[in-house]
Amino acid sequence: MFLSLPSHIDTFNMRNKIVAGNWKMNLDYAEGISLFSEIVNMVKDERKGSQIAVICAPFIHLNSLNQLSAGVVKIGAQNCHQMESGAYTGEISAQMIKSAGCEYVIIGHSERRQYFAETNELLAQKTILSLKNQLTPLFCIGETLEERNDGSYFEVLKKQLQEGLFNLSKADFLKIVIAYEPVWAIGTGLTASPAQAQDIHFFIRNEIKIKYGADIANATSILYGGSCNPKNAAELFAQSDIDGGLIGGASLKSRDFVDIIKALND
Ligand code: PEP
Repeated sequence: MFLSLPSHIDTFNMRNKIVAGNWKMNLDYAEGISLFSEIVNMVKDERKGSQIAVICAPFIHLNSLNQLSAGVVKIGAQNCHQMESGAYTGEISAQMIKSAGCEYVIIGHSERRQYFAETNELLAQKTILSLKNQLTPLFCIGETLEERNDGSYFEVLKKQLQEGLFNLSKADFLKIVIAYEPVWAIGTGLTASPAQAQDIHFFIRNEIKIKYGADIANATSILYGGSCNPKNAAELFAQSDIDGGLIGGASLKSRDFVDIIKALND
């Protein structure tokens, strides 16, 4: 069956190399502009190759960052609402995010799952609306420390994939980027070892292969997130199933963030 590929996927078996920063609830307006300008200038001067750099910023920054991005750094939001529009005071829709110039949106970050009780079913709805509005979802999955220790983590990850993403058609699934973020590694300074991360990335890709076939599994970018920094990035990114990173704390420092981008092989 012929599938039309999203424009950012060059060939069926080549996957994009991506480093995405997640600023979370940090930086006021002026600070955001200043940090982003630094990042754009450094990426412009230093990037070699075709790695994709993304900054996922708080909503108030998005439109201005888009004006400054010059296409060098892509813009993403950190969340969107699951409904198209309407009486949802304080919420932001996927269509609004798109209209501010975003190309990406984080869906299902563990902090949203934990503090805002976001379920796999809800995240599936957000994913569908993001795709409908031509946003690339950076869909996060990951196990807690308890789930890692009790050995249930493969089941947990499988359920997150099945309930959050595996309702998508093949054509839509091709537009997704997955971020594996072990909850125990986020903001803790604990990083999964390259071998631990590779094991999980291989597992995720294999689940995609079982569901959608090898071509689609090989074309899916799977990022690692969790205390990634300029010191550990190169070894993580050298693993065969790791296609880049989702970066929290280190994305708040321009030098660190750009060094992480540079750790990504083309
Ligand atoms: C994140 O929040 O997605 C993340 C990976 O954070 P950190 O890099 O700070 O662990």
